Parts: sequence; structure tokens; C-alpha cells
Amino acid sequence: MALMTGQQYRDSIKDMHINVYCHGKKIENQLEHPITRPAIDAVALTYDLAHDPEYQDKITGISHLTGERINYFTQVYHSAEDFVKRLELMRDMFYRHGMCQGARCVSGNIANGLESVTFEMDKKLGTNYFDRFRKFWARVQSEDLSVGGYVTDPKGDRSKRPADQVDPGFYLRVVEQKKDGIVVQGAKVLISGASIAHEALIMPTRAMLEDEKQYAIAFAIPTNAPGLTLVHQFPSPDFRRLTPGARGADFGNEHYGVYNACHIFFDNVFVPWDRVFMCGEYEFTGPLVDRLAPCFRCVTSACKCGHRDLLIGGSAVIADFNGVGGAGHVMEKLSEMSYESELSYGCIMGAAYRGRKTESGNYFPNALFANVGKYQATKALWFGAAMGVDISGGLVMGMPSEEDRQHPDLKALIDKYFQAKPGVSTEDRLRMMRFMEYLTGIGNILVAESSQGGAPTASQQLVFSAALKKNLVKYKRHVLDLAGIKQEEPAKKR
Ligand SMILES: Cc1cc2nc3c(=O)[nH]c(=O)nc-3n(C[C@H](O)[C@H](O)[C@H](O)COP(=O)(O)OP(=O)(O)OC[C@H]3O[C@@H](n4cnc5c(N)ncnc54)[C@H](O)[C@@H]3O)c2cc1C
Repeated sequence: MALMTGQQYRDSIKDMHINVYCHGKKIENQLEHPITRPAIDAVALTYDLAHDPEYQDKITGISHLTGERINYFTQVYHSAEDFVKRLELMRDMFYRHGMCQGARCVSGNIANGLESVTFEMDKKLGTNYFDRFRKFWARVQSEDLSVGGYVTDPKGDRSKRPADQVDPGFYLRVVEQKKDGIVVQGAKVLISGASIAHEALIMPTRAMLEDEKQYAIAFAIPTNAPGLTLVHQFPSPDFRRLTPGARGADFGNEHYGVYNACHIFFDNVFVPWDRVFMCGEYEFTGPLVDRLAPCFRCVTSACKCGHRDLLIGGSAVIADFNGVGGAGHVMEKLSEMSYESELSYGCIMGAAYRGRKTESGNYFPNALFANVGKYQATKALWFGAAMGVDISGGLVMGMPSEEDRQHPDLKALIDKYFQAKPGVSTEDRLRMMRFMEYLTGIGNILVAESSQGGAPTASQQLVFSAALKKNLVKYKRHVLDLAGIKQEEPAKKR
């Protein structure tokens, strides 16, 4: 079975009975839970699209391990083209769900790093990690598994190294080595898609030193392994999904809009040797981190580029619905958003084409360009979100709920007073407004209030542009005087 369908993926996650909690309660069935279901649906798309004849070329490839057709989220990179294909896929997928497929996304990059580093470990140390890893990854590919990528440790006091923490458990570590495997203890935090992935692929969050060997570990375990407890994150917009009566348009991105990220606690978790890919070889942790980082920075930036494309599209739609679609300042803002965004995409494309191959054949993007691209991706997203709030208007954070809109005493009032452009129904305008709330990522009224309270930026621009017009005459006169250029005062226009 090389390519699962979305339904097969859903059923397989349900059957795993993963030990995950949300808001103080154990989730019995993630498929039916309002917090986990949307992210499952987003990941299910990555399975269904692999069966779509029109999309198949974008989302599948041929495995270098098995020769089979596999889902591209399990592909590792052997050339610039391989990597570019992944970047393009990330951007395009975002258009389809406006969400994340973290349950499949980070791990491919770890796999690329591990394949190359285990090769070098075996060559230098005579270990057999490379073979082990490739066997594991061939299974991931041929069974079309979703694999969470676990890097981030709790880290304790950030100013101290792992070995200097007051508690040795702030970084995931080996507590026992047995004949048949190792026992690990600790936690990983904020892992995307963890509770909706079949497997966890785990590596250190930083380079380790000789006295930190216990933290120099890489391995894989099924997400339902005994001793694992997962806790789903709980950002404020997610509360709405648990509010009685909230529905449909209240959620913005109704079908897919919940980010799945979990904290995972490891209580003496046993990992058999055939799933261990590093255990104590601290000098290889630096190269592993250094190889994962540029890959993942590019990949996550590509997906945020898709997010920004939706922000640009959403800002244009809401401006139309408000009746100001053609306004000059709106077009300028859209153009700036696009410029900031493409700047990042150009950098990561540059990183992809200026990469390097390791002896194992794995391909890695240029680290400098990757980091510049990621840095710019973050700036561009914050900028785009600010512009999105600015263009939407204050309603983006001040919407009545669907319960209000359906209430017999309120419906006519809301339908009348929230109508804007003729021909666009109030329902559509409010639905779009909520979608902009989702895309701009504001879960607290303060951001919109600081942008819209006291009027949006174009109003302030009108005032300071008028002041500049007056001052410009004065400033030009000073410059001409200093440059020794005599010019007649222009005749006053009538
Ligand atoms: C939605 C989401 C999804 C994520 N998905 C994944 C995932 O799938 N897999 C995964 O492994 N991780 C994931 N992460 C974790 C992410 O990689 C970390 O949040 C990130 O690396 C920062 O680590 P931190 O949160 O511990 O913040 P910190 O490291 O504590 O950083 C906070 C601030 O402190 C500063 N700082 C930290 N250490 C020092 C120091 N020694 N000296 C000076 N300043 C310092 C930082 O620069 C930053 O400004 C995710 C995070 C989020 C929010």
C-alpha cells in the first residue's frame, strides 16, 4: 500500500487511540473532537490529492529507497529540483486548506538530515545507523505514514546549557540502555501535528557537548507508544470551537482552521534499537541541527508565502465587499504586501538553487539565503497581517456571532446595518470578515483596536500628506538656497 486515501488516514489515526488531552479532558476520538478534527481534515487532503490525477505530479514522487510512487511529504531531497518541488508544494497546499500539515511536514526535513548524518556516523564510527534509518524511512514511505518532527525541548533556563540546568530533564534524554533498546525520559514541546501523526521522529534541539551525551539522541516511536502523554495547545481563538451555539461562519476557516500543536511528555518510553538513529554520538548533533535548520526554514517560509497570498486575496475581497476595492491606498498596500512576500520567496528559491550535496547524496539549501528568507518571511507575515487588519476595518475584530445574526430580535438589525456594497449580502461580508480575522491571526481585540480605533491608517495619511504638501514648499526652498540655486517662486495656481 503505497498511497493511502484521506479516509484511510483518518481511520488509521482513530484506531491508534493516541493518549492526547485538550482543555483538561482526554480526547476519546480525535476525528469527532472540534479541536483536532479540522487539522485531521487538512492532513487528509495531502492523502486525497495524491489520488487526484490533476494534482498527482505535484504531491507524489519516486522513492530513492523503494522505487515506489510515494507521497512527496515523505520524500528526501537529492537535488535542487527535489527541494524546489517541495517548496512549491508547500505554497500551493496552503491555498487548499489555509492551515498546516505539520503532521507530515517537519519530519521530511529531519529525515533528510538524518540520512546524511547517519551515513557519516557509520563511516567514521563503524555503526549501522544509516541502514537502520533507511529501513525505517522506507516503511514510512511505503505505508504512507504521517510523521511528526520533534526537535524543540522545554529547555529550562535559556542562559544555561543542558548539562547545567537545575533539572537534568529539561532536555529529552536516555535514562537507560538495555540489550534490546533504550529508555527515554523528558518532553518535547510545541510539536506541530503530533497528535494526528502515526509516528514521531525525534532529534536534539541543539548541538551537544561531550558531557551532554545523554541528550544526543535521535529515534522514532509510534505516537501511541506506552509512556507518551500529549497535551494539545489552547490558543484563545480555539475557545470559540467549544462555545455552545458557535458554528459555521463563527470560525473563519470553518473546515480546517485549527492548528494542531502538542506538548509531549515521555515517561520512561522504551525505544527498540532498530528505531534508534543516534545514541550518545554528541559530535554529530551539530551537523544534524545545521542541516535540518536551513531545510525547514525554507519549507516553513514557503508555506507562509501561501498564507500571505491568501492574506492578499482576502484583503482585496474584503475591500471590494466594503465598497473600496479600487481605492489607491488599498492597491498600494496590496502591492507592498506582495513585494514583502515575494522577497522572502526569492531568497528561499536562491537558497534552494545554491545548495550543496553531502557524500550520502542528500541535498541541502544554502544556509545564509535560507535564514535571510525565513527572517523576511516572518517580517512579511506580520506586515501582511497589519495591512489585512487595516484594510478590513474594525469589524474584523468586532463581529457579532452567528447566534446573534440568527436571533429574531437582532437579525433584521444586523442584516441592515452591516450591509456595505450593494449586491454583497451582509452574510457574505460578515463571513469574509471572520475569515480575515482568521488570516490576520488576531485573537485579541487590542491589535485591531490599535489599528482601527481612532480611524485606519489612510485617514492619518491624509492629514500628514496635507501637512507635507505645505512643508514641501519650505523644504525645497531651503535646499535650493543651500545649493546656491536661484529659482523663481512658481506662480500660485488659481
Ligand atoms: C505553532 C508552533 C508550531 C511549532 N511546531 C514545531 C514542530 O513541529 N517541531 C518542533 O520541534 N518545534 C516546533 N515549534 C517550536 C519552535 O521551534 C520553538 O517555539 C522555537 O524554536 C523557539 O523556542 P521556544 O518557544 O522555546 O522559545 P525560546 O527559545 O525561549 O525563545 C524565546 C526568546 O528568547 C530568546 N532566547 C532564547 N535563548 C536565548 C539565549 N540563550 N540567549 C539569549 N536569548 C535567548 C529567543 O531569541 C527568543 O527571542 C513550534 C512552535 C509553534 C509556536
